[in-house]
Amino acid sequence: SIMPATLSAISNGAKHGILFKGGVHLENLSHLKAIAFDKTGTLTKGKPVVTDIHIQDGEDHNDLLWKIASIENHSNHPLALSIVSHVKKHLNKELLHPETIEDMPGMGVKAIIGEEYWKIGKADFISGLKSNHKLIEKANLLASEGKTIVYVQINNRAVALIALKDVVREEASKAIKELNKLGVYSVMLTGDSEKTAKVIASESLVNEYVAECLPEEKVNQLIKLKERFKTVAMVGDGINDAPALATANVGIAMGEGTDVALETADVVLMKNDLPRIAEAIRLSKKMNTIIK
Ligand code: ADP
Ligand code: MG
Repeated sequence: SIMPATLSAISNGAKHGILFKGGVHLENLSHLKAIAFDKTGTLTKGKPVVTDIHIQDGEDHNDLLWKIASIENHSNHPLALSIVSHVKKHLNKELLHPETIEDMPGMGVKAIIGEEYWKIGKADFISGLKSNHKLIEKANLLASEGKTIVYVQINNRAVALIALKDVVREEASKAIKELNKLGVYSVMLTGDSEKTAKVIASESLVNEYVAECLPEEKVNQLIKLKERFKTVAMVGDGINDAPALATANVGIAMGEGTDVALETADVVLMKNDLPRIAEAIRLSKKMNTIIK
């Protein structure tokens, strides 16, 4: 049977926009030593905006952008959505349907259009980039401004890059500071590049970050954090975050996250309000003192 103190903490949580899916999660939260955060959509608003486009000399700009949008139109990654809406704003032409298309989570998208083999995504995913010093130089500069870089490859040539800037949630740094006051260490996990991750980490004030983290690598990071800190939570919003949410002692989903994240999580923040995490911990500690 459920203890009155637990029941009262759960109902108190609900009043504060925190949904606990059971008393055991409150118990775990009261012992919490560290929290891992997903970057995109969790620490940031998850609505990246296209800021820069660089296209190799000799390419037909409009044709290239039209094909990029046609490929990204088949992905529901936040970067893809932003690229498609950006291109649609500037080009008034119906998108084409690539012959084949393959979404590679944490990497990008592959497609075939006519005789051309296309790849759109992160640096590791693109070949022919190493010899393109001009593109790399541009990318490094843009990444040091905290922008995410998406590269475009046709056959074996890296032909373009698109930079997108996502905004750190205003309340993120406050939330992290509150957690630190409660003795909870914070780590950001992201598939984004080292340079970009560093800027977002310093803006949000997380204690530590891990960049270039593939979806399955996030689970490994959680396992390592559990060895280091014993009781660890994970906060995320995406389908990609579900395995890490399940691995953490406490999985916390952003209320506006995807269904899979909401179902997998133990705790749901009804609004995407990060400071409620500290509130949840306070409630759990209060509950524990009453019970003990
Ligand atoms: P995060 O952990 O920050 O949410 P992801 O793991 O989803 O990031 O993606 C990591 C990187 O892979 C992105 O920063 C981007 O460079 C690339 N990427 C993934 N999906 C796409 C896509 N649909 N279009 C372009 N780039 C992508
Ligand atoms: Mg996310």
